[in-house]
Amino acid sequence: MKWEENVRKVVPYIAGEQPRGTGVIKLNTNESPYPPAPGVARRIEALDAEQMRLYPAFPEQTELAAELAAYYGIGTDRIFIGDGSDDVLSLAFMTFFQSDRPILFPDITYSFYDVWADLYRIPYQRQPLDESFGIRTEDYLPEKSGIENGGVVFPNPNAPTGVLMPLDEVEEIIAANRDVVVIVDEAYIDFGGTSCLPLIDKYDNLLVVQTFSKSRAMAGMRIGYAMGNPRLIRYINDVKYSVNSYTMNYAALQLGVESVRDAAYFQESCAKIIKTRERAEKELTRLGFTFPKSYANFIFASHNRVPAQVIFEQLKQNDIYVRYWNKERISNYLRITIGTDDQMEVLYRTLERIL
Ligand SMILES: *Cc1c(COP(=O)(O)O)cnc(C)c1O
Repeated sequence: MKWEENVRKVVPYIAGEQPRGTGVIKLNTNESPYPPAPGVARRIEALDAEQMRLYPAFPEQTELAAELAAYYGIGTDRIFIGDGSDDVLSLAFMTFFQSDRPILFPDITYSFYDVWADLYRIPYQRQPLDESFGIRTEDYLPEKSGIENGGVVFPNPNAPTGVLMPLDEVEEIIAANRDVVVIVDEAYIDFGGTSCLPLIDKYDNLLVVQTFSKSRAMAGMRIGYAMGNPRLIRYINDVKYSVNSYTMNYAALQLGVESVRDAAYFQESCAKIIKTRERAEKELTRLGFTFPKSYANFIFASHNRVPAQVIFEQLKQNDIYVRYWNKERISNYLRITIGTDDQMEVLYRTLERIL
């Protein structure tokens, strides 16, 4: 077809499967196995259909922005809220990565980064992780690596490895890249890591991105946010208001508030997941798996005898979904989301049978 010459062709990001129905143990997309804060369900009852007649409020002027600002002890002018952190990250790429120089990110990382880079025609360079899946800090320091870059983005903890970069190394990268924007994707920071958020006052080139999808158990509501100095926030808002002014719907803006408000429930849910993860480390080791130490709500594991793809297929036949990528360097690994203790018990027992 002739018109196809004028089509923007992209290779899309492939999300994990979303099987519906009961009986499936879903450990493949890092959702929380626990419900959102109880206040969320109560607020659903209080949603007002009449309000849906109107366009939603601008996120930065909502109760949600005020609640997040109070929670983190920063001003609302330092917060950008979007339709899940994928929306936030995508807009951040569009806004901040405008250089002809390549942006840098790890070779093994969130597989949306290269998709957005391709979509927006941003040149990029992948920096290989070390043998134990750690990010090599020096690869992101222009003075040491000799690479002049157009920006830096990495998740901390990294996905899908779960490996955490210590805060001083995160700061080293930000400090060495003052002429470009550094995006730290903290989708999993609540599971035992230390956020670099306090650095946003010290470094005007730092954008910290977080989400309600994992630790706040609200993936279906699509709420993500970025925090940085007001100049960065203004720039990303300008782009957002040039694409779609109303990315956030009325319900998401209302319900998110209840999650932030209930700090005790939030901390308890994260603590439960961390505890189950610690148990999973022991069980998976016993079953013959090895993995880097995870600071996320998943474990990235490889078996000493049985290929990952075989285990992946066998688990699926047993209605247990985990994530597998047939990609260089990681094709013998499974990313296993931490579920409830009961779900994990079924996983261990099933693994005992199939290995
Ligand atoms: C899950 C995830 C996101 C996106 O989550 P949203 O549901 O869009 O908020 C972003 N970055 C990483 C590394 C993730 O794993």
